[in-house]
Amino acid sequence: MELVFRDDAYARRCDAAVTAAAGEGIRLNRTVFYATGGGQPGDTGRLLLPDGRTMKVAATVYDRETGDILHVPAEGGPLPSPGDTVAAEIDWERRFRHMRIHTALHLLCAIVPGGVTGGQIGDGKGRLDFDLGDHALDREALAAELRRLVGEDRPVSARWITDAELDAQPELVRTMRVKPPTGSGMVRLIEIEGIDLQPCGGTHVARTSEIGALTIGKIENKGRHNRRINIALAE
Ligand SMILES: [Zn+2]
Repeated sequence: MELVFRDDAYARRCDAAVTAAAGEGIRLNRTVFYATGGGQPGDTGRLLLPDGRTMKVAATVYDRETGDILHVPAEGGPLPSPGDTVAAEIDWERRFRHMRIHTALHLLCAIVPGGVTGGQIGDGKGRLDFDLGDHALDREALAAELRRLVGEDRPVSARWITDAELDAQPELVRTMRVKPPTGSGMVRLIEIEGIDLQPCGGTHVARTSEIGALTIGKIENKGRHNRRINIALAE
């Protein structure tokens, strides 16, 4: 299965062949649908069927056994048949909000001085948990720093690196906020130029200015090693 969103997060639609069409979800030979993972919700959208009907995609998840992406149909609608050619189309406005929040969380990760212990992306909002000990956070300073980094319009890029290349560049690991998982052969790195470098499989905007205006919500204590910072898109 070709994961179009990995190379192009801005792809809203692609043609695809249906490889299986069981009730738990439709499998395609390629897809623009991001499946729930890494704290980012899966996409919703539709498959346009050869007979002109539309199958609504209510959720996108990974098949636990095979790792395939499953396009979960809304109940009661039409289903395609194996071998059909369909157009797969995501709910772009929702996905773009996920991309903006996801990239904003990378910025937050870069400016808060503590290890990340958890995180979640929702529609138009998101949060990260940090292990900060007794370190006090100044919400206004955080908001100003985020505004500055968004305003600097930094490019965001992805690249793949082999475990061996990573081993050969220990300075890369030192600059990363999160130690990459190794063992699968390849690691996908996301870099916000001059700000953040870390392994990530999610979808991001191409430049930080696309994040737009943000608000910082509640800063909560969720236990001794968990300070939760909530952010949201301002519009
Ligand atoms: Zn990411």
